[in-house]
Order: sequence, then structure tokens, then C-alpha cells
Amino acid sequence: MSRGSEPLEVCSKCGRRIPRSKAIQDQKSYSLGTELGTSEDVDLRGRRTVMYCISCAKHGRVLEKLKKKNERKRRY
Ligand SMILES: [Zn+2]
Repeated sequence: MSRGSEPLEVCSKCGRRIPRSKAIQDQKSYSLGTELGTSEDVDLRGRRTVMYCISCAKHGRVLEKLKKKNERKRRY
């Protein structure tokens, strides 16, 4: 069993490269509404997957959020 070839992800905060198994995924929803009052009413909404390295996830409190998610999934 070799784990040599893991795909690398780039941390979206600090730009560090991290193997996918160590990367922490977070989904951010964003919405871009028009506050300019133009005739073209553009409303963009979507979800973006953001990758964080572990240290950034700790700082950004992403880990706490994910822990809560996992607790919800897991049976006691
Ligand atoms: Zn980072």
C-alpha cells in the first residue's frame, strides 16, 4: 500500500499545498446581489468549495464547524 501519489490541494488562505487527505473542505455560500441599481438585475448565488490547511482551519474556526457536523452524523 503506497500513499505516494495523493492529489494536492492549495489552501485558499495561505496558499500552502497540502495532500487532499489532510485538507479540510468547507463550503461557502455566496450571493452577489446588485446594489448599484442598474437595469440589469443580476443575482448570482452559488456554493464554493474552499480548501484549508489544518492550521488555517483552526484559525478560521472551520474545524469546530466540521466537528459539529460530524457529531450530528455520528450515532452515539
Ligand atoms: Zn492555510
